[in-house]
Amino acid sequence: MRIVFLGAPGSGKGTQAQRLVADYGLVQISTGDLLRAAVASGSELGLRAKAAMDAGELVSDEIVLGMLRDRLLQGDTGNGFILDGFPRNISQARALDPVLREIGQPLDTVCLLNVDFDVLMKRLTGRRTCSKTGKLLNIYFSPQHEIDACVAAGGELVQRADDNEETIANRLKVYREQTEPLIAFYQEAGLLKVVDGEGDVDDVYAGMKVALGL
Ligand code: AMP
Repeated sequence: MRIVFLGAPGSGKGTQAQRLVADYGLVQISTGDLLRAAVASGSELGLRAKAAMDAGELVSDEIVLGMLRDRLLQGDTGNGFILDGFPRNISQARALDPVLREIGQPLDTVCLLNVDFDVLMKRLTGRRTCSKTGKLLNIYFSPQHEIDACVAAGGELVQRADDNEETIANRLKVYREQTEPLIAFYQEAGLLKVVDGEGDVDDVYAGMKVALGL
């Protein structure tokens, strides 16, 4: 199954994608993760992307598309994939089609995770990643034993550089202005499935599986 995950920053795309990867062997392709890896490696491309990311703006379509295309061509997507954080605007959505045609893997579904603005803010400001295991945690919502387990394993709770209040506000604005129009775009294409993204991670996942027919 080949899925695009649509949803505001903090709507749970990464968390839910990790569940589908574990249960169905799909490959998660997060353009945000690819970009953060490029920034961490200090590559020329990473340097070009960093300023936009730090400000909560979108990185240029050219950079992101090149990265995504290289990733899709790695040939490990036979069981399907989840595009997490791509496309972010209409022109990226239009550019995606020819790449997917090239690899013979057209989209099956676009899954929108719906979450209220107030909830998004809390999820984003509280979001941390365990430096040891990569597990996504939240200082407001994660059970204490999961946070303790990270620390006991010698991990640290790391906050993403762009998870500060100013950048978060801009990322949500960019989402409303540039990404939200994709909802109508994919609805017209007959691909859109809407999932309630609020509430418990397990409940959201259950709703998602129903929506995806899994
Ligand atoms: P994310 O991890 O998806 O929240 O992305 C973090 C940041 O990476 C975003 O705020 C953008 O600066 C950049 N980014 C991720 N995906 C894209 C994309 N498809 N197009 C442009 N910029 C992106």
